[in-house]
Amino acid sequence: MGIDRRQFLGASATGGTAALSAACGRERKAGESRAPALRMEELGRIASTPVLRLDGLTAPVVIQSIRLLKKDKEYFVHVRSKDGAEGISLPNPPRPEYLTSILKQLVIPFFIGKDARDLENLLWELYRWHDNYKLYGLALWSPQAWVEFAILDMLGRILRKPMGALFGPVQRTEIPFYVASGRRDTTPEQEIEHLKKLVAESGAKALKFRVGGRMSRNADAMPGRTGTLIPLVRKTFGDAMDIHADSNSSYDVPKAIEVGRMLEDIKAVYFEEPCQFDHLEQTKAVADALTIPVAGGEQEYSDWRFMWMIANRGVDIVQPDLHYYGGMIRSMRVARMADAAGMPTTVHISGGFGFVYMLHFASVVRDPGRYQEYKLGTEKYGAWFDPPLTVRDGKMSVPVGPGVGIASIKDVIQGAAEVA
Ligand SMILES: [Mg+2]
Repeated sequence: MGIDRRQFLGASATGGTAALSAACGRERKAGESRAPALRMEELGRIASTPVLRLDGLTAPVVIQSIRLLKKDKEYFVHVRSKDGAEGISLPNPPRPEYLTSILKQLVIPFFIGKDARDLENLLWELYRWHDNYKLYGLALWSPQAWVEFAILDMLGRILRKPMGALFGPVQRTEIPFYVASGRRDTTPEQEIEHLKKLVAESGAKALKFRVGGRMSRNADAMPGRTGTLIPLVRKTFGDAMDIHADSNSSYDVPKAIEVGRMLEDIKAVYFEEPCQFDHLEQTKAVADALTIPVAGGEQEYSDWRFMWMIANRGVDIVQPDLHYYGGMIRSMRVARMADAAGMPTTVHISGGFGFVYMLHFASVVRDPGRYQEYKLGTEKYGAWFDPPLTVRDGKMSVPVGPGVGIASIKDVIQGAAEVA
């Protein structure tokens, strides 16, 4: 069943802080501007607190090599220490096709010879190294994330802990998910058939579909699609289905509010990226006007802007992308700030193997929101894990093996060639 924005924030905030009750303790009328949740200075202090916990790792873990490998269409980043420890990551397709030069020239060389235990502090030095900060955004953060994930895998294997446990106690071993349609080429009737198929294949109890036209300045994907589809999804799937909608930056403020009202009418869970992703004030105006929670952040690249969004309630749910935002450590800092303000952090995931990093992230943050995104993928990657990943009753299992949880690096990269 759907849940309104105020109930959502209250329900998801058990164990929250005094700041939370100050922010959410009274009923807010739609359109009323919301008080800042926490001051920027306080959020800055929270964000600067270390997130990576490597207790028990007493000997240096000196990085000897980092290699980019490819097998069929899949890329791997492989790291090895001087003592022979190793780890791997899987980059987000198709980014390695054109970000390989940044990875190989501006990210990998920085890490060679460094102690992997300093990973958290090294990220700042990497940002400054060779003026890398001038490239910040998806183009720098994705290669950084690939190396970070591989190093975290290696550290987890050394400590015999799953990746999530490197950031605190694992809170949950199963993650409820919504299944996401990535389509806009469908008529409302075709989209319903597509959603039915996704729900049947995955067993999802929640779904997400696309509204608007994607960065379309209010134009719909086809005339009348959004207005027909929104009530039709509720009518088709009934009250038990939890519904999410994503406009991918389609609207200005008045149109976003109009579509948001339709989503409120069907008691949707949240409304994602209503306005252009980097127009924070427009997004906040929509969030202030609506009672449905507004989610955003998948294309946010700046620590300071996430801080602004949290301090000013620019959104209700923050969504850093684990690849586009530079990895688990940076995203975990956002989650720490959001948590202090009583806001959930529901990470955005890039396709392919990305959901596995999401599982680790969602296993350890206090409030990951009600559902995580699932774009299918366990059928391809699930058997790499021991025990294999499962999708059951609308939930995915969190990997329990050390590091990212892949049982045998050797088996997975067998036959892969180094990318020159
Ligand atoms: Mg989105």
